[in-house]
Amino acid sequence: MHDLPNLTVIDHPLIRHKVSLLRAASSPKKLFRELVDEIAMLMAYEVTRDLEEEAVDVETPLETTTGHRIAGKKLVIVPVLRAGLGMVDGMLRLVPSARVGHVGMSRDEESLEPIEYYFKLPAGPDARRFIVVDPMLATGGSAIATIDGLKRRGVRRISLVCVVAAPEGVRALGGAHADVPIFAAALDRELNDAGYILPGLGDAGDRLFGTR
Ligand code: URA
Repeated sequence: MHDLPNLTVIDHPLIRHKVSLLRAASSPKKLFRELVDEIAMLMAYEVTRDLEEEAVDVETPLETTTGHRIAGKKLVIVPVLRAGLGMVDGMLRLVPSARVGHVGMSRDEESLEPIEYYFKLPAGPDARRFIVVDPMLATGGSAIATIDGLKRRGVRRISLVCVVAAPEGVRALGGAHADVPIFAAALDRELNDAGYILPGLGDAGDRLFGTR
């Protein structure tokens, strides 16, 4: 249990199993990538639970019946570069018609503030529902800046999906954007002085892309 009203922890046994493998320093890059992909796919199932539906007629071989199809706002998945890229394909496997936007954030070495260096969204952002993906919600700085950027461009309906969240990041994001629900596969204990999540899984980007 936790006291973070903006956070839903998706603690399904399959997700917990996969997150534990992901944490292990001994898991090689190939396995790490596969796990992030699978966890994102499983999370997409829960995160899309409230998608609007509409009734459609379906001709079975025997008669006409009423079926359902997804209606309403179209989905956009927005990975925060670069680690967010690891979650895109898993989500697309469940929602193949979703669009994909990209957001690049770097950190100003002096102020430590996030700087937006890339922002590319599909047309008509106000008519769409956005899911921002980033495996690690640590201080929340880049998530807040990403959501600031989306709102400045007219986006209204936004969720954030991460694999591991730190309480500090969940609180910071809730303070800045109380209307944005956060979904995490795990809520960890705290951040260390270097901004890493404890117990965490290390640097998600480096482990996904083998840059360390
Ligand atoms: N980003 C990561 O990749 N890992 C952390 O623990 C924190 C931020």
